[in-house]
Amino acid sequence: MFVYADHAATTRISPEALAAYTATAEEFYGNPSSLHSAGQRAKEILDDCRARIAKVLNADAREIIFTSGGSEADNQAIRSAAYAGLKKGKRKLISTAIEHHAVLHTLKKLEKEGFEVVLLPVQPNGILDVETARAAIDEDCALVSVMLANNEIGTLQPVEEVAALCKERGVPFHTDAVQAVGHIPVDVRAIGCDYLALSAHKFCGPKGVGVLYARRGAPLSPLIEGGAQERGKRAGTEDLPAIAAMTAALEASVADMGRASAVLKKLQDKLIDGLSRIPHCALNGDRERRLPGNISFCFEGIEGESLLLLLDEKGICASSGSACTSGSLDPSHVLLAIGRVHDVAHGSLRLTLGAENTEADADYMLEAIPEVVSYLRNMSPVWRDLQEGKRQYLL
Ligand SMILES: *Cc1c(COP(=O)(O)O)cnc(C)c1O
Repeated sequence: MFVYADHAATTRISPEALAAYTATAEEFYGNPSSLHSAGQRAKEILDDCRARIAKVLNADAREIIFTSGGSEADNQAIRSAAYAGLKKGKRKLISTAIEHHAVLHTLKKLEKEGFEVVLLPVQPNGILDVETARAAIDEDCALVSVMLANNEIGTLQPVEEVAALCKERGVPFHTDAVQAVGHIPVDVRAIGCDYLALSAHKFCGPKGVGVLYARRGAPLSPLIEGGAQERGKRAGTEDLPAIAAMTAALEASVADMGRASAVLKKLQDKLIDGLSRIPHCALNGDRERRLPGNISFCFEGIEGESLLLLLDEKGICASSGSACTSGSLDPSHVLLAIGRVHDVAHGSLRLTLGAENTEADADYMLEAIPEVVSYLRNMSPVWRDLQEGKRQYLL
């Protein structure tokens, strides 16, 4: 049995997207900046994709900038607003403790350049309290950035409310919507954001392509200098096949969203209920306000990495919250932010389902995971201490 349950990391390209990719690569190989007919045909495809993506997001085509993915879009949004703020003497950047590294590391870099970075805490359910945001946002802010849906624990953030606070106080608002777009309805006007980042490979499009939505009038400066592509805001010949594939993937996932989210919600409920029966475990993130298909747990007395390796041997591709950076094992900043202590945060497991996952996949995982958890616990000195009362259970 093979079960891919790591769709938050990336997805398999959809048949629609793949077909659009090959058709575009074969037929429309001209450079959209060329004046000859081959170039102009490519330009037409590019314009068409831009208009279609704008329509899905309820944006204007002029507000869509094609990028190399979510990371680039986040970087550009944050730097554009930060530098524009600085010109008016505003140095404060506000975000949350649970953002993706594309946001957090950009902010860290800006902090070194002299900006003041404030990372708001989230509640134990993994959701930002609007009152925390209200107390922090003032006229000195150059930018507020709050993700729409968290990539580890799937929690949905109150972005409309935060955007409204920002508007009141004249502060630009960015949202990293990479996990949300294609999975839940996303409307830039309804949110009221100035910037929004999305990435194709999170909704069955190809890797290496994404979009920065920048509201008309929102400050925008290029990260990459060169030609005048993307209205001078992002140089480099456009990856037209990838852009066409992203457009097809987005339309397909939006068209199938109702059906897919009902299927995912059902499998999610089944897995959450089933895994909750394992003793001394806890669901990470709010049970209701989360992405359909996200299941994140901490199991006491085990190492998430060992769990992943053993699950992989059983054909299950999952993920843990912790990121292994340069040999040292840092527990996930998201799990720490929701109040999990280091030991508990290390024993994490994230399953993220996609529309092709089945009831049989869920049944198989519900058989395999409890087995592997108890196998690992039986070998664990920490678990023995817990059982012998030499240590206190935390979950
Ligand atoms: C995947 C992801 C990104 C990065 O997108 P890439 O296209 O891989 O650069 C940014 N933010 C979130 C929330 C993500 O899940």
